[in-house]
Amino acid sequence: MSDLMMRPGPVDGRHGCLADLAATPLADFLPFALPDITSAEIDEVVACLRSGWITTGPKVARFEREFAAMLGSDVEAVAVSSATAGLHLALEAAGIGPGDEVIVPVHTFTATAEVVVYLGATPVFVDVLPGQLTMDPEAVEAAITPRTRALMPVHYAGLACDMRRLIALAERHGLAVIEDAAHALPTTHGGILIGAQPTLATVFSFYATKTVAAGEGGMLVTRDPAIARRARVMRLHGINRDVFDRYQGKGGGWYYEVVAPGFKYNLTDIGASLALVQLARMHEMRARREFIARAYLDAFDGLPVDLPPAAPPGDMHAWHLFPILVRDDAPMSRNELIDALRNQGIGTSVHYVPLHMHPYWRDSYVLEAERFPVSTDAYRRMVSLPIYSKMSDGNLAQVVTAVRQLLGQP
Ligand SMILES: *Cc1c(COP(=O)(O)O)cnc(C)c1O
Repeated sequence: MSDLMMRPGPVDGRHGCLADLAATPLADFLPFALPDITSAEIDEVVACLRSGWITTGPKVARFEREFAAMLGSDVEAVAVSSATAGLHLALEAAGIGPGDEVIVPVHTFTATAEVVVYLGATPVFVDVLPGQLTMDPEAVEAAITPRTRALMPVHYAGLACDMRRLIALAERHGLAVIEDAAHALPTTHGGILIGAQPTLATVFSFYATKTVAAGEGGMLVTRDPAIARRARVMRLHGINRDVFDRYQGKGGGWYYEVVAPGFKYNLTDIGASLALVQLARMHEMRARREFIARAYLDAFDGLPVDLPPAAPPGDMHAWHLFPILVRDDAPMSRNELIDALRNQGIGTSVHYVPLHMHPYWRDSYVLEAERFPVSTDAYRRMVSLPIYSKMSDGNLAQVVTAVRQLLGQP
């Protein structure tokens, strides 16, 4: 892990989060993101390595059980190799295909929309609400056509979308709701955890920078047994049983059947070992991020920036990200602030370059920036500050002091 963190350049340029991880060239540099790995995670991984079973097996089974139990009795959890894989499987299991339209927000990571394209369906892009930057229910309603089959809310930064409205809208139009919950572990909406809302499926990410980190990994959760069954088959080559069942299970034996051209999307027991301990520490880690978020909200009150909204009273914000928007009356621009913070040894990022500003999405779907004014404006002014449980009080004070000084309130 530290090897990856210390590598000075982009590892493969695959996505922004990976670049976040790689941007740590100096020993005294506060990285934008760091996983919070204790000896408990290390011991669990070592035990897995010593056990002789390192791919999908008993640890994945236990991780699925514990994840489902955390969400409630009627939820099934299907572990996968990434959230991207889980979103792909959820849409596939929902029967999304050519000719279908799926509504996605522009203010997200490219994975949310690319899985729609994997299936030959058409992503339909909508703008987000000012402030919380989650998909705008009115824009969703306006985007619905007779071909619309599903919508994919993204709980941006760890704050829940307006699920009450989105679910009501989906019910009224007979649409599936598949939640991209890559930022939302743990998040609640109306006192109910994301993952336990009445939607078709919810997908979490255990990517290295996420709130529960296993390096790579994802979890598809659903209340629909048919969706879970299909996803279990399709995550492993369309084979009707898991590797573990085939070789170790009660049924044993060599025989298996391929019932569909599936994918290779299974999670390893090595990853599940890490994720199991991280899951047990999920609330402890969130509490630290909440503390950091509260400190930032306090310290930056009165600065020429728009601050991210907190969760409504009684609800939980996962605080995966802390994006601030630099106002035009600030003493420096967003880009200048990023450079100045880097010069002071503080890593930042931008979440996101909206999809309509990436060449592929912009050109293939003819997306004009004027159609997405909220996302376009947020992108122009946005900086994501470090917010992770490994940050010390000293690290926090360093960021607070630097931002206040640079934005004109020493
Ligand atoms: C990280 C992320 C994903 C992809 O997660 P992976 O586990 O890396 O596939 C999808 N959507 C959003 C919003 C993300 O931040």
